[in-house]
Amino acid sequence: MDCLFCKIIERKIPAKIVYEDEHVLAFEDVNPQAPVHILVIPKKHISTSLEITSDDNELLGLMYQAANKIARDRNVAERGFRLVMNCNREAGQTVFHIHLHLLGGRILHWPPG
Ligand code: AMP
Ligand code: ZN
Repeated sequence: MDCLFCKIIERKIPAKIVYEDEHVLAFEDVNPQAPVHILVIPKKHISTSLEITSDDNELLGLMYQAANKIARDRNVAERGFRLVMNCNREAGQTVFHIHLHLLGGRILHWPPG
């Protein structure tokens, strides 16, 4: 399978990893859209939000808990931050291994573009 984020998990492609546990990996986005822009991914390959099943219920909770920990560590938890998962073309998904964008460190406008 030719998946960029699986290659980051396998350390075949370098990334600035900021968090790792048994099930979750987080690293700096290579093209940051905010002072804090981190991608939180499951180590299990799931291509889009639509492929999440009840088998993944715990995994999704672990992704959110990792994101919360990183937000606190980066001092954006109290100020505010955003967790976004894009799904498919019109939402702008470009990497087909699910990821939460953790964005913070500036005012985030709503609705997003
Ligand atoms: P999305 O458009 O929601 O699929 O998000 C994909 C994100 O992955 C974008 O914000 C890219 O900047 C980011 N990205 C692409 N390649 C890399 C990479 N090698 N390392 C870190 N982030 C990446
Ligand atoms: Zn993958």
